[in-house]
Amino acid sequence: MSEKGSPHFVVPDSIEPVLGWKGWTLTGMCRLRSPSFVTAWIPGSPLKADCGQAVPCQETPGKRCRCGIYIAGSAYRAAGYGYILGKVYGWGKTVVHETGWRVEHAYPSELFVPATLLDSGALFRELQEYGVPVTALDDWDFRILTTPTATEAEWVLERMKKWTGKKR
Ligand SMILES: [Zn+2]
Repeated sequence: MSEKGSPHFVVPDSIEPVLGWKGWTLTGMCRLRSPSFVTAWIPGSPLKADCGQAVPCQETPGKRCRCGIYIAGSAYRAAGYGYILGKVYGWGKTVVHETGWRVEHAYPSELFVPATLLDSGALFRELQEYGVPVTALDDWDFRILTTPTATEAEWVLERMKKWTGKKR
């Protein structure tokens, strides 16, 4: 994270960061936003998780809570959450899940944006403020990036079998 244009902070070396994927929508100010939360991701400043429960966890993310910043294990799993995709570093307290992580701190390391959204150039300039590479994706690139791996496809099939099994 030391190349030119990088944000003004360093992921601490002592804590092994996770590198996963996230899908975002945008706020009116062209800031990244996780669809399930109102919090905007501020350029140059890592997002810190907040429990938000009436009786908050002592440490966020709590093991038995739903709090924390969600990071998916693959682009396929992140794609359902927003039209802007990115690779994301997560660090600090980390809870491992079957399909990804919940973390205490996070910041994007690379952004992938539908090419049609970047046509005006305005959004591209706004996203440059995060100080990480921004890549335009056409429909085909997007499909390739978000194609499930064989293991993921199997996982989805198993889930579907369980769901349909329960209903009938
Ligand atoms: Zn919590």
